[in-house]
Amino acid sequence: MEMEKLVSLCKRRGFLFQSSEIYGGINGFWDYGPLGVELKRNVKEAWWRDMVSGHDDLTTMTGAPEPYEMTGLDCTIIMHPQVWKCSGHYDLFHDYMVDCRQSKKRYRHDQVVGRWVEAKGQKIFATAGSDSDQPEADIERHALKFFGLRTKQADQLKWDGAMVSLTTVDDFSQVLGPDAKELGTLTEPREYNLMFKTIVGALGGEENAAFLRPETAQGIFVNFKNVVDSSRVRVPFGIAQVGKSFRNEITPRNFTFRSREFEQMEIEFFCHPDASPQWYTYWRNRRFQWYIDMGLSGDKLRLREHDPDELSHYSTGTADVEYAFPFLPAGEFGELEGIAHRGDFDLRSHMEGKLDPDSNPLTLELDENGKPLHRGSGKDLSYRDNLTNERFTPHVIEPSAGADRATLAFLCEAYNEDEAPDEKGKLQSRVVMKLHPRIAPIKAAVFPLVKKDGMPEVAQDIYRALKKKFNVFYDETGAVGRRYRRQDEVGTPFCITVDGESISDKTVTIRHRDTLEQWRVKTDDVVSEIDKLVNG
Ligand code: ATP
Repeated sequence: MEMEKLVSLCKRRGFLFQSSEIYGGINGFWDYGPLGVELKRNVKEAWWRDMVSGHDDLTTMTGAPEPYEMTGLDCTIIMHPQVWKCSGHYDLFHDYMVDCRQSKKRYRHDQVVGRWVEAKGQKIFATAGSDSDQPEADIERHALKFFGLRTKQADQLKWDGAMVSLTTVDDFSQVLGPDAKELGTLTEPREYNLMFKTIVGALGGEENAAFLRPETAQGIFVNFKNVVDSSRVRVPFGIAQVGKSFRNEITPRNFTFRSREFEQMEIEFFCHPDASPQWYTYWRNRRFQWYIDMGLSGDKLRLREHDPDELSHYSTGTADVEYAFPFLPAGEFGELEGIAHRGDFDLRSHMEGKLDPDSNPLTLELDENGKPLHRGSGKDLSYRDNLTNERFTPHVIEPSAGADRATLAFLCEAYNEDEAPDEKGKLQSRVVMKLHPRIAPIKAAVFPLVKKDGMPEVAQDIYRALKKKFNVFYDETGAVGRRYRRQDEVGTPFCITVDGESISDKTVTIRHRDTLEQWRVKTDDVVSEIDKLVNG
């Protein structure tokens, strides 16, 4: 599937719009339209239902060491700045960027694949092949323009009729002549913190600086004690949160995949240190299976265990659920969710006096009195098991998912083109979004076959009865085949048609979006039938 087709469908049918589009848009920000908002809400609700509200506390889930409880939280986006100092984000949450003095553009360091050079009286941006990343489209365009190339292959550059392979930048002089000199107009890579800064209070200065959260997880850690004290949860248990996060990404791209404002669905699962390896395996498998259950196909989805050298210093295991997004080069996958064994790193970092410079790098920076600069909260965040009386700092397994990335993966997977017969039986091409019924924005559409003979009245009654439970759509305009196709294109799994027979025998037709199968049910049974089809 070409990504352009999906992007254009999303705009045309109201799934996704560029934020502030009438003012030219703002890079890295996206709005969900009338159908997009339903889709994303359904994704978040399915996650919440499957992980939290529908979780059975009494039963041992397949692969879990024992039964466990789940509960939720909704924390603020702006928190005490000390949260980010203790979490490590203030010091360590950065990327590297380089500025191009020539074009005044900014790139992530790993996206720069060429240099500015002067040759034959011209300043040119000479690109070289890169193993690590695709050349940025505008660098490539620039290079193509200067080199007069028709090929998109930046490592086969044509200059004065000579075909030269440029795999390293040292080759430029061979291509451009001995007088070519490098202008060196890219700055050295610089660290760049990804947190958005703001000022709290009308008269606030730098001392009142605060940050928009770059993840929802920290709100859970700092409320750990509140949750334990206010509810009757016992370890092992999980706290879940869904909400906005903000990262000032240097180069947001690939539609909503890398945005500056996005939503996360995170769980912090607290368990006894001895049982933590089993819980890590459980969550890794459970979260992977969830994407399969929601319709992502096995060959485009993978669970990738991190190599030991990729792991954070505190993690004994991390795995990513990854999807082969169509905008990525063949064979490459993009992260949908990370599942990490975080040990007791986070709770320890938010406690005071437990910060041991030997094992916690956050405390290496000391103030003038030799005290850790980023001191913890001073609160005891350890846990006492009141059955065994054991006191310990729980270990944490963190499944951290992105609602926008999951939604994008579901959209990519759903996009299909095939043929379906029109009302005369003639095959017509159609675009069909094969979204899982649970996340489809519209669950059913109700059509009277024609606008007469009592059919609209019956159809409207069915529409109203369904509307009490589901988002459904009523349409009486145009040929019925066209109405079906409009619903196929937005992923509506079921269309209900009221025809002449409906008036006499009180039955209606239900049509299945994917199989095109049609069957009749009693008008009175439509609501329960759709409920069964959508919710199983
Ligand atoms: P990446 O390496 O792609 O930047 P990450 O490893 O920094 O991602 P995490 O910090 O583990 O991501 O965040 C957890 C999840 O939040 C990711 O798996 C992803 O689904 C989502 N997420 C993170 N950054 C973004 C973003 N800029 N836009 C949309 N979703 C994001």
